[in-house]
Amino acid sequence: MSEFKVREKFLPYCLPLIEEDEINEVVDSLKSGWLSTGPKTREFEKQFADYVGAKYAIAMNSATAALHLALEAADVGPGDEVITTPMTFCASVNTIVHMGAIPVFVDIDPKTHCIDPKKIEKKITPKTKAIVPVHYAGHSCDMDEIMRIAKKHNLFVSEDAAHAVYTKYKNKLIGAIGDCTSFSFYATKNICTGEGGILTTNRDDIAQKLREISLHGMNKAAWNRYGKGGSWRYDVENPGYKYNMTDIQASLGLCQLSKLERMQKRREEIAEKYNKAFGEINEVTTPYTASYTRHAWHLYIIQLEVEKLKIDRDQFIEKLKEYNIGVSVHFIPVHYMSFYKNTFGYKVGDFPVVEEYFEKIISLPLYPKMSDEDVQYVIDVVERIIEEYKK
Ligand SMILES: *Cc1c(COP(=O)(O)O)cnc(C)c1O
Repeated sequence: MSEFKVREKFLPYCLPLIEEDEINEVVDSLKSGWLSTGPKTREFEKQFADYVGAKYAIAMNSATAALHLALEAADVGPGDEVITTPMTFCASVNTIVHMGAIPVFVDIDPKTHCIDPKKIEKKITPKTKAIVPVHYAGHSCDMDEIMRIAKKHNLFVSEDAAHAVYTKYKNKLIGAIGDCTSFSFYATKNICTGEGGILTTNRDDIAQKLREISLHGMNKAAWNRYGKGGSWRYDVENPGYKYNMTDIQASLGLCQLSKLERMQKRREEIAEKYNKAFGEINEVTTPYTASYTRHAWHLYIIQLEVEKLKIDRDQFIEKLKEYNIGVSVHFIPVHYMSFYKNTFGYKVGDFPVVEEYFEKIISLPLYPKMSDEDVQYVIDVVERIIEEYKK
């Protein structure tokens, strides 16, 4: 084809925005001598709770830890059933298995790709204990419907908000709707602390229980037992987990939270450019945004209308790689994973909406560090591949 130049430098699928303030804040922690959970973790929890409008926030070493403890708060146990969607990261479901419970999948809404509330009630049995809705890609689930169903059947709601820092449902930030909400600060997420997560809740009983079991089950302010005014004496009423966040992570979290608005504005700008460009291509479907949500644009996912193309999704990804663009797929449905097939009898064919969607999707690079040239390059390349391979 014509004189189009393939870029020399690989465009990564994702890069965190780490600036001088993050570096200085981490160095400050290292110099302070307080490396584990300490004053910065407490400050980060306070600021995060204030930001989402929740009464409590408990910082942890991952969203996976938070999702696990949310099910502890729900008293989920062996033989119980927990409802979620297969269009998620395995952690949303693995944590259900960690509790000895059975994951019960519900197909997704064909537009939002979040759990389809219309299909939830058919899956509720006397053993159902909880629902784990996933705010997919930064788009909110239909929370009014989910909360209505949960209330009617007395179910616990543990929201997986790994993609949903900044997401709103009906003008309210995600983080204070369900019983518990878990956010991720993994390296690729909208706010990153390397590894990290936080659980928010408005319930006093949950906050108190999880505060303890996120740190070995030690009671009182055990995190401060080496500090001035702290006490060496503690008790363990329940054997807990080692899930606490460190002040080194919280240093990053505090800086990232302070620049969240700026980072999100950039994500919105890029998403707009993509929407405009890809909206004009017949062979591509752009992400849908329901009127009830503010999208956090954690992921930008295009759907290839594969019946209009001479190549499939996998081959399309190979082409993007040849042009030096990193991409990903979110997600390989969890019911395709060997463990879930072998253990619970799930099989391909069980969730038609998820399965059809999975064959079409590609997550394109979208992060605040991308330059306008990077964005334009992605647009140009997608257009070129479509031109070459459309039927
Ligand atoms: C990233 C992610 C998680 C896990 O987050 P960690 O902080 O890495 O434990 C859970 N659920 C979803 C949907 C995710 O994308």
